[in-house]
Amino acid sequence: MTREELRKRLQDYSRTGNWIATGVLVFFFALLISAGLLTSRAPKNDPIGFIWPVIMLVIMPASFFVMYRVGKRRSRQHSLTCPHCGRVLAGTPAPIVIASGRCCYCGHAVISDL
Ligand SMILES: [Zn+2]
Repeated sequence: MTREELRKRLQDYSRTGNWIATGVLVFFFALLISAGLLTSRAPKNDPIGFIWPVIMLVIMPASFFVMYRVGKRRSRQHSLTCPHCGRVLAGTPAPIVIASGRCCYCGHAVISDL
């Protein structure tokens, strides 16, 4: 992969990732607002008052895990993983990989036009 191909893949990865993150945020805040409305309107000592916070405490880590798995799968689809160690090169490592041409985790060359 050349440096320019890597930049193009990172742009495509970022563009689709922004739409996915927006969808997840809208879903999460819709759920949060509906939970707040339900608990505020619930009669005193109604179990819904403590069930929703528990559900939200389960949904939050689950959504973070799903986002992590989706991000990893997307990076494989866009060929943005190191061919030597398999770590994701998108996100924080991307500028390091573009500048150095090497994986920031294992140090192997990932760009052919060094
Ligand atoms: Zn590597």
